[in-house]
Amino acid sequence: MIMKGKKGVILGIANKKSIAYGIAKACQEQGAEMAITFLNERFEKKLAPIAEDLDCGARLYPCDVSNPEEIKALKVSLEKDMGQIDFIVHSIAFAPKEGLSGRFIDIGKDAFDVAMNISVYSLIEIVRELKPILSNKASVLTLSYYGGVKYIPNYNLMGVAKAALEMTVKYLAEDLGKDGIRVNAISAGPIKTLAAAGIGDFGFMLKWNKAHAPLKENVTIEQVGNSGMYLLSDLSSGVTGEIHYVDGGYNLMGMPAVEFDEAGKPHIAWNGEK
Ligand code: NAP
Repeated sequence: MIMKGKKGVILGIANKKSIAYGIAKACQEQGAEMAITFLNERFEKKLAPIAEDLDCGARLYPCDVSNPEEIKALKVSLEKDMGQIDFIVHSIAFAPKEGLSGRFIDIGKDAFDVAMNISVYSLIEIVRELKPILSNKASVLTLSYYGGVKYIPNYNLMGVAKAALEMTVKYLAEDLGKDGIRVNAISAGPIKTLAAAGIGDFGFMLKWNKAHAPLKENVTIEQVGNSGMYLLSDLSSGVTGEIHYVDGGYNLMGMPAVEFDEAGKPHIAWNGEK
C-alpha cells in the first residue's frame, strides 16, 4: 500500500468522470485517507455518495476557491478532523464561455481576471493557507494541459491560464522546497469531463489526439489517477517543479505522421472524421 498512512485533501471532484476522482480512487486503493470539497450546495448532494465511496463521508467540506473565507474555513475543518495532512490535489479550472471559443483578441478583462483567479491564483492561496497543517514531506499536485505551451484551437484564455499555472508550479516548488514541500503538475491529454465540455470543438480535439498520439489512444482518468498517486507518494520524493505529461505521448509530436496511398499520394494518418 503505497499511500498507507498518508492523509490529504482533494479539490475538484464534480462527478465520477472528474480527473480528481481518478486521482482520489488511485490514492484510496493505495491506502490514503482523504477529504474532498464541493463548490456549492447544489454539488454537496451530488458529492455525498462519492464521498461515501471514497470512505470520507464525514470529510466533505465546502470550498469555492474564489472566496478566501472558504479556503480559511477549509483549513480549520481539516485541522480539526485530520490534524496534519500530506497531500493537496488542486484539480480546478474555470473560464467564462467567451474565453473558450471565438477570437482571442475579444477576451474581456473580467473574463481574464476570473479565469486567472480561479485557475491559477487559487493554487497559491490554497497552499499558503494550508501550509501550517502540511507535513514536512508534503506533496501538492495540480492539473495542466498542453494548450498552456502551444496554440490549441479554442483553448484561448485557458491556454494563458495554464501557462501561468505551470510557472506557478515552478516558483512554488522552489519556494517550498526548503520546507520539504513538493509541487508538481500533470499535463493530461484531453478527457471528456464537465469542464472539457465548455471548450469549443472538444470532440474534434479528442479525435485528433487519439489519431496522432504515439500510443493511439486517449488517456483515461485511471491513467492520470495512477500517475497523480505516484506524484503524491514518497515514490516521487526526488521530484518537484515538474510538469509531467500523461497524454499518450502527444506532446512529442512536431508534425502528424504522413501515410502514402497506392498512387504515392501523401495524406495525414487521419480518418477525416469531424
Ligand atoms: P471537472 O470534472 O469539471 O472538474 C473541474 C472542477 O473545478 C470541478 O469540480 C469544478 O467544480 C471545479 N471548480 C470550478 N470553479 C471552482 C471554484 N470557484 N471553486 C472550487 N472549485 C471550482 O473537469 P476536469 O477535466 O476533471 O478538470 C480538472 C482539471 O484538469 C482542470 O484544471 C482542467 O483544466 C484540467 N485538465 C483537464 C483536461 C481534460 O481534457 N478534461 C485535460 C488537461 C487538464 P463544479 O463542477 O462544482 O463547478
